[in-house]
Amino acid sequence: MQVSQRLQEIPPSGTVAISNLVNQMKGEGIDIISFSVGEPDFNTPGNIVDACEKSLRSGFTHYTPSMGIPELRKAIAESVKAKNGIPCEAKNVLVTPTKQALFMIALAYLDPGDEVILPDPSWVSYEAHIRMCGAVPKYVTTDFSDGFVIDPAKVEAAVTPKTKMIVINSPSNPTGCVQPESTLKGIADIAKDKDLMVMTDEIYENIIYDGAKHYSIAAMPDMFDRTITVSGLSKTYAMTGWRIGWMIAPEADIKAVNKLQSHSVTCCTSFTQPAALEAIRGPQEDKVKMVAQFKKRRDLALDLISEIPGLECYVPGGAFYLFPKFSAKISSHELAEKFLMEGHVAVTPGRAFGPAGEGFFRLSYAASEDDIVEGLGRIKKVLGSL
Ligand code: GLU
Repeated sequence: MQVSQRLQEIPPSGTVAISNLVNQMKGEGIDIISFSVGEPDFNTPGNIVDACEKSLRSGFTHYTPSMGIPELRKAIAESVKAKNGIPCEAKNVLVTPTKQALFMIALAYLDPGDEVILPDPSWVSYEAHIRMCGAVPKYVTTDFSDGFVIDPAKVEAAVTPKTKMIVINSPSNPTGCVQPESTLKGIADIAKDKDLMVMTDEIYENIIYDGAKHYSIAAMPDMFDRTITVSGLSKTYAMTGWRIGWMIAPEADIKAVNKLQSHSVTCCTSFTQPAALEAIRGPQEDKVKMVAQFKKRRDLALDLISEIPGLECYVPGGAFYLFPKFSAKISSHELAEKFLMEGHVAVTPGRAFGPAGEGFFRLSYAASEDDIVEGLGRIKKVLGSL
């Protein structure tokens, strides 16, 4: 059978492919340290698991309204309004897995030939989603020397009559950069001036360190009507496998994207929705403890990296990724392969995140301190042998 031209043109997800390979190698009994896929190694907090069990046992196992259960939509809107300052209500919320939201937004808004401006490097699936719609990614380079902050002047220079959307992801996967308020204001001005829509992926919004502050562009003056904000529970509450998150947008846009939801998955999984309500409304101590752990691990990994000749790393203000720059004269794919095959340690090659990612690799430090010490020891050995 012949797959579509559309699909032939895109590679499999670089992050998911490495995670699959790691699982396979572990299954074969190989002792792999994984810094590859971005997922917390903690268990989901007990109060959330209990809420899920309760909903399963009470028979809450059927379809829900396709936009999500009303109590959850209301709770998300209230939390986003209070915390992010986005002027939203329940009618502005669609409950859906975060990655599904990103995919549906691309399908809902991009026509063939439309151009989408996105930072380089950025998370692997934005480009794939854009290409699957026949649209064209237009990368705006961000630099190690500037801490990977987006330069609004470069965004402005990338705008053409075909530009439809600007994609932002702060804190960023893979760099961990938290975009400053001034940058987001600059991008907001461009979006308003050129009449563009903004899609902002804020999935790492709660994983922030050293007093960095997360800003939502949808909360800036006159931005709500042209912005879709996407976030979810996966990273904040160690709920990656639950597949539940949301998008926030004007009501007409929620209805438009819900058409795709109703024709694809119908609704988000039913029994995770009362659990999501508990995550948002229930006690938050576990979340705070996990973020404190991530910070400790970040600092440990940064210390160890600083002792490895040939590596240099920007200190990120958020997410749980480091994006070290390497001096070895090989490609990031070759280096990641060497780390895996010779050192039995998995990272993601920087090139998977865009052309500007070449010369870097991504290390997810959502791993135990013992694994960080052992894994970076292995990385040092492999680099030393080059
Ligand atoms: N977003 C995570 C990562 O970048 C999970 C895998 C994926 O969805 O790409 O590793």
